[in-house]
Amino acid sequence: MICLGIETTAHTFGASVVDDGASKGDKKIDRSKVRILSNVKDSYTTEAGGMIPKDAAEHHVAVCGRVIQEALDKAGVRMRKVDIVSFSQGPGLGHCLRIGAMAARLLAAKHNLPLVGVNHCIAHLEIGRLVCDAHDPVLLYVSGANTQVIAFDGGRYRIFGETLDIGVGNFLDCFARCLGLGFPGGPKIYELALKGKNYIKLPYVVKGMDVSFGGLLTNLKQKIESGSSHEDLAFSVQETVFAMLLEVSERALAHCNKGELLLGGGVACNKRLVEMAKRMCEARGASCFVPEPEFLLDNAAMIAWNGLLVFRAGETIRIEDSIIRPYWRTDEVNSKLSKACLAAKARPYA
Ligand code: AMP
Ligand code: MG
Repeated sequence: MICLGIETTAHTFGASVVDDGASKGDKKIDRSKVRILSNVKDSYTTEAGGMIPKDAAEHHVAVCGRVIQEALDKAGVRMRKVDIVSFSQGPGLGHCLRIGAMAARLLAAKHNLPLVGVNHCIAHLEIGRLVCDAHDPVLLYVSGANTQVIAFDGGRYRIFGETLDIGVGNFLDCFARCLGLGFPGGPKIYELALKGKNYIKLPYVVKGMDVSFGGLLTNLKQKIESGSSHEDLAFSVQETVFAMLLEVSERALAHCNKGELLLGGGVACNKRLVEMAKRMCEARGASCFVPEPEFLLDNAAMIAWNGLLVFRAGETIRIEDSIIRPYWRTDEVNSKLSKACLAAKARPYA
């Protein structure tokens, strides 16, 4: 079956066509037959300053038609060959989610196709499993708005640790903005950190299994004002924050008795985080999986792939029920997909 997926939780408008290589009646998908036929995106950026949700939404409206058409063209698929339309229903910015939902509803209605709403966080986990051959991982999901340690355990997707305030990507973007750098700030902080030589002591905030970045940001603003080296601060920020995230991830691995760590989200493009994650996994005999940046950053392939899984689990939504869910939590997804995962022991594809 072929699914057209649309992603618009934040800065990225993405469209992708995925063919799961199985026919309608098949119970199980053979992962080796799944083909990501296209994965097109256009992301909102700025030279200086952060992301304004209203402007990001306007960006999405402007690129929407072109990106969807390009995804279909690249895949060599016409709308009449598409079986399912899926969209990221949440969590994310309301302004942005609304644009993707509108486009998906319109296409589903016009072509009389089933519509599937996808949870963006779970989509990060499932695309990682697909492209990396991870079997049953703990996902360290580090993106702009989200920071969560997620695993499928005890019959559903659960959050084992998360940020108590802002996502780590937003934190890096805010820090970059304080240094006069544009959006997205994460890659700019990484470049700056390479020039840092001295570790400046910063608050290390792990509370149980959760992390927090708000206090750290205030502390950094004070240090910038008092003239600390920007390079040293960038270096110290990465060392501190990534250690916090990996401490929680390691404990989740131990608690769930799982032997695979999967990275997801745009911040996982950071080579220093990857290096630290691999070292932690090596020390405890676990495997570390890092998808290509194309599948780490927000992308529509993960929405199309999850759309297929959710559809096969029997969960479509009516257009009138397809409201966006900006605050949809990973552990609220008590869907038929979870039950299908359980029924198929690990997951409904092999
Ligand atoms: P996402 O929301 O998953 O698409 O990720 C976007 C976030 O990833 C933004 O906050 C970026 O600043 C951050 N990001 C992208 N590349 C890097 C990098 N190399 N290092 C750290 N953060 C990054
Ligand atoms: Mg994301």
